[in-house]
Amino acid sequence: MTTTVKAAVFTGSGEAPRIDEVALPDPGPGQVRVRLAAAGVCHSDLSLSDGTLPQPMPAVLGHEGVGTVEATGPGAEGVEPGQRAILNWAPPCRSCWFCEHGEPYLCEYATEAARNPYAALSDGTPVYAGLGTAAFAEATIVPAKAIVPLPEGSTPVPPRSWGARC
Ligand SMILES: [Zn+2]
Ligand SMILES: [Zn+2]
Repeated sequence: MTTTVKAAVFTGSGEAPRIDEVALPDPGPGQVRVRLAAAGVCHSDLSLSDGTLPQPMPAVLGHEGVGTVEATGPGAEGVEPGQRAILNWAPPCRSCWFCEHGEPYLCEYATEAARNPYAALSDGTPVYAGLGTAAFAEATIVPAKAIVPLPEGSTPVPPRSWGARC
């Protein structure tokens, strides 16, 4: 089974994204599918899109996402559908040498989700998730360990008056 969602797809460095359909596989072991409510636009997205930072293409960028978990894969422990969450684009594995020595920010596997395609375009072309997150989309697949739960009652969508300044 796949879940088809709309996403902003970048096909080459320096090119504008286009809205296209992306087929998400069912969440695999240790993965979850998140329905996005909002995503920030970061300067790193610009750097990934124009080649300043390495990014395999085609890709769905966006790594500052918030939304609701809607499906979980096998072994996605501690995460349930309906959980509202912020997505951590560099989730520590909690078991490598750095993680076990109190330095999770140096985790060897934190960016693992960005290394392989996470979904496919409608013609079957594999597509990569920018920084392992792919938040410029209606939904995405991320590691369960990327889920940062939001407290009950919090709203995942900020007021429009906040604007974006970063
Ligand atoms: Zn960022
Ligand atoms: Zn680690």
